Amino acid sequence: MGLDANKQQTWFTEYQTDSLSLGLRVETILASDTTPFQKLLVAETETFGRLLALDGAVQTTARDEFVYHEMITHVPLFMLDAPKKVAVIGGGDGGAIREILKHPSVEEAHLVEIDAEVVEASRRFFPEISCALDDPRTSIHYTDGIRWVKEARNFDLIIVDSTDPVGPAEGLFQPQFYQTIADALTDDGLMVAQSESPFLHQPLIRHMREGLETAFPHIKLYLAAIPTYPSGLWSFLMASRKSPAPSPRHLTLNLETRYWTPQLQTAAFVLPRFVEELMA
Ligand code: SAM
Repeated sequence: MGLDANKQQTWFTEYQTDSLSLGLRVETILASDTTPFQKLLVAETETFGRLLALDGAVQTTARDEFVYHEMITHVPLFMLDAPKKVAVIGGGDGGAIREILKHPSVEEAHLVEIDAEVVEASRRFFPEISCALDDPRTSIHYTDGIRWVKEARNFDLIIVDSTDPVGPAEGLFQPQFYQTIADALTDDGLMVAQSESPFLHQPLIRHMREGLETAFPHIKLYLAAIPTYPSGLWSFLMASRKSPAPSPRHLTLNLETRYWTPQLQTAAFVLPRFVEELMA
């Protein structure tokens, strides 16, 4: 788990690779449990506030969660003129649902989370992240996203807000899963998946891109800076049947955001050369 206690200090350490780790000094450990799916830790850290970790990997922190949750939702939502039906696979903290429901056209937001204890921990320790889980437009399904998507139809957007590609999340990075997502989308619909760090996970990004290409003709990658994720530079892969273009409403709907801006809607797709090469 990476909780190192010595005389006066406790540190949370995420071992991101065999030779790289992130250390955060912990003030208090609020919860430390083993769920049927993973090890769950909630701790108060000095620098990033409250932290949720699963199997020793940072999922979210109170101070930087807005970057990930805004960018995994608003960028694809603003490619659509009137998104109505949206699903999040994973995402048990509820941050993506909170952002999705800022779009007035959304009528249904489905959260498909395998581990009910993640949702319970978020409701208890992260009320500002989980605040939209009781919204009447939200439905929560406690099941494996791979199974759930097979029966899903007519979605405008499906977001894969998963843990790293190990354990229950492994299948969420496979081509067969992307094909079932394609079948669950409307013709104009799109999907987005968090796709890890372009510095540290290049083979995975290539594997995801190639898998997505078997199910969708249009694949685009965009970036955001997330300080507590490995390397700090994070990527998202977006896939669709039709070539995506920002809806004019991205300029007129004045959303309350802290990271996403109308300029970033297009700028996030401008890639440094080494990332461009990953997509070539
Ligand atoms: N923002 C996070 C990140 O990139 O580190 C991910 C946040 S969210 C907490 C990830 C969730 O995906 C976890 O709660 C995990 O239980 C869930 N998950 C993993 N595999 C899943 C599956 N096959 N079906 C549904 N949910 C899954």
